[in-house]
Amino acid sequence: MNQSVELDRTTREWRDRHSVLTFTDVIKKYSSERGSVVALNGISLDVKEGEFLTIVGPSGCGKSTLLNILVGLETPSAGAVTLDGAGGVDRKTVGYVMQNDNLYPWRTLRENVEFPLELRKIPAEERRRISTRYLEKVQLADFANAYPYELSGGMRQRGNIVRALCFSPRILVMDEPFGPLDAQTRLLLQNLLLELWAEEKKTVIFITHDLHEAIALGDRLIVLTARPGRIKSSHPIDIRRPRNIRHLHENAAYRELLSKVGDELAEEIQVQAGVH
Ligand code: ADP
Repeated sequence: MNQSVELDRTTREWRDRHSVLTFTDVIKKYSSERGSVVALNGISLDVKEGEFLTIVGPSGCGKSTLLNILVGLETPSAGAVTLDGAGGVDRKTVGYVMQNDNLYPWRTLRENVEFPLELRKIPAEERRRISTRYLEKVQLADFANAYPYELSGGMRQRGNIVRALCFSPRILVMDEPFGPLDAQTRLLLQNLLLELWAEEKKTVIFITHDLHEAIALGDRLIVLTARPGRIKSSHPIDIRRPRNIRHLHENAAYRELLSKVGDELAEEIQVQAGVH
């Protein structure tokens, strides 16, 4: 098969889908006695159904603020975020995975994974069926009855991810989820996330400071400017799936994007350094 036809089917198809999330001129200003900080300044963005969108930007440019607005933990000072072009985003439709797994220490892994299902009043038998299926998917079935302190960082983060997926959210939001993990565990989890995503076809919004990770995982990469965060650039990632993350450095499209976006990011990091 001609490579560009294959690319069309595997990586470009999402571009014709409908927009599931729309940010329109979102501005966020934080005010305190010490003055005010504009964290985001006019973010407009469409995220397509089933798209894996990655976002990079210098530290402090407003990435977490953007996600917090999306999940309803913060309200925008101006502008709006809408789901399916209509009302606001219902937090129940979003799975949120943060940098530090926030599994409850007094619950077993299975009880943690089942927690969002309990909130949604799913009967016990159904909860058990769902948690078993997800724990198996991430090779944690043997640890279902372990407590978080008995698990490695990588295992806890796997639990954290399936907890965010098990209630079938429309959108999965991830804020530097692999940040604290060592390089090998990170690679395993990146591959696992791609497998889960290929099966579940969720819309994913993934923030990272690691450009390699952003290109390796995403359909599209957005670069934010130094604070106040605006969209500096948007790059489709035309790398065929399934991707072998370990060997991506051999891929010309990957190397080209890494170099181009690396320069853009370095520029903004320099500006941001001047902001502080
Ligand atoms: P990033 O995730 O890109 O590192 P954040 O979204 O955490 O950036 O923060 C963007 C800017 O907004 C920073 O300057 C930060 O200090 C400021 N900020 C974030 N949250 C608050 C808050 N609750 N109150 C005041 N300022 C905040």
